[in-house]
Amino acid sequence: MTETSHTATSYSHGCRCGPCRRLHARKVATLRARRRADRTLINGRLVAVEPTVVHGLYSTYINWSCRCPECTTAQRDRRIAVANQRRAERDGIVEA
Ligand SMILES: [Zn+2]
Ligand SMILES: [Zn+2]
Repeated sequence: MTETSHTATSYSHGCRCGPCRRLHARKVATLRARRRADRTLINGRLVAVEPTVVHGLYSTYINWSCRCPECTTAQRDRRIAVANQRRAERDGIVEA
C-alpha cells in the first residue's frame, strides 16, 4: 500500500475514504450555500440566474436551490416517481 495524500481533489479522483468524503461534503455544502446566496428573486421565486444553469432538472433544484417553475416541476415529478416506485416495491409490482 502506498501512502497517498488526501486533499480536496482526492474525492474527484475516486478516493472514498472517510476524510475525503467529509472534505468533499463540506466543499459541496459551501458551493451550494454560495449558489443559494446568488439566486435572484423573479416573480416571487428565487431562481438561479447563472448562464451555465440548465433549468427543468431535479439536480438544478437540489444543487442550485433553483425554484423556477421548470425546476420545481422537475422536483415534484421526481418526488412522485420515487413515491410510486416505493409503493410498487412495497406491493411487489414492478412497472415497466
Ligand atoms: Zn482519501
Ligand atoms: Zn430553474
